[in-house]
Amino acid sequence: MNSDCLFCKIISKELPASIVFENDDIIIFNDINPRKPIHWLVVPKVHIENLNELSDKVLAGELLTIISTLAKEHGFAEQGYRVLINNKGDGGQEVDHLHLHILAGAPVGPIVCP
Ligand code: 5GP
Ligand code: ZN
Repeated sequence: MNSDCLFCKIISKELPASIVFENDDIIIFNDINPRKPIHWLVVPKVHIENLNELSDKVLAGELLTIISTLAKEHGFAEQGYRVLINNKGDGGQEVDHLHLHILAGAPVGPIVCP
């Protein structure tokens, strides 16, 4: 828990969020500014600032396999979806707590960078 961190405050329920899934290790909630009909943020509960700081292989596996499971349960696995991690400044990361974006429900198109 980092008391200055927005996502830690969501994890501790100090701030509200529209929660899609939660277990002991991971919380998934809707992005406040959805870019596609489905836009989830998959967030480890432990405060890991970015992908450079991720070393827990079990957690890394959990973060991906829960996406695979929920994509099927929510019916967008077959149509497809994008999984995106913005990492630090050049990667466009705005919230410094590791998270995976899930974009689904409409084609996302090619990767576009300004
Ligand atoms: P990043 O640019 O760090 O990869 O993505 C941060 C994401 O967090 C953005 O897509 C942004 O819309 C989302 N976000 C920022 N503040 C909040 C918030 O208070 N609640 C929720 N649910 N999402 C947020
Ligand atoms: Zn945090």
